[in-house]
Amino acid sequence: MENKHFAVALDGPSGAGKSTLAKETARALHIMYVDTGAIYRAVGLYALRCGVDPHDEAAVSAMLPEVKVSMTHADDGTQRMYLNGEDVSEAIRLPEVSMYASAVSALASVRAFLLEMQRSLAREHSVVMDGRDIGTVVLPDAEVKIFLTADDEVRARRRFLELEQRGTPKPFDEVLAEQKERDWNDTHRDVAPLRQADDAVVVDTSALDFEQSRALILKTIREKLGI
Ligand code: C5P
Repeated sequence: MENKHFAVALDGPSGAGKSTLAKETARALHIMYVDTGAIYRAVGLYALRCGVDPHDEAAVSAMLPEVKVSMTHADDGTQRMYLNGEDVSEAIRLPEVSMYASAVSALASVRAFLLEMQRSLAREHSVVMDGRDIGTVVLPDAEVKIFLTADDEVRARRRFLELEQRGTPKPFDEVLAEQKERDWNDTHRDVAPLRQADDAVVVDTSALDFEQSRALILKTIREKLGI
């Protein structure tokens, strides 16, 4: 299995459990986990810090030459994200960065700027890559494509608990409203909108706990790859 080079594209809306499940899946398969949302978050963070309107394509494009994003991957699946050499792995998780990430990710120039970085990781390593357009745009030839989803309320509840655990709590209604806004942005943008690839397997985690979701994803991958 170690010698076979392959890619698992894991797409879906926020809060479906993609990052935790992708990380665990990569660990179980002994391959690299790539969280592409973190890359958009780093660009969003830069716009926030510079006071750049994240919806203004001209202003964001003008800022891109100053942005150097890079990442490291430890054996345990931990990804650290760097922005111009600074470790921003924690800073990119702040709630205000989510909206900036969502806004800049709708811009064609930003997506083009980050595309090759994502593809080269998959050329060099077997990966589980999570995002919104991995199966449709970034890795259209991925050996396995999974579309991970769950009901709106279930996803918002998970995010609510996550924020609470992180010490940055928010009222549930606000979490749900922001999630709906991000879902709308992600599915309605002109460039690389979130949609299920025709050849993706849908995994709905609404009624599944973490262990059940993990087992179902691994089963799906192993069946697809015959491993
Ligand atoms: O997955 P996460 O919530 O960290 O992603 C942050 C933002 O980046 C999302 O709101 C989404 O709009 C965007 N994104 C994207 N394409 C990806 C990954 C994330 O547009 N492949």
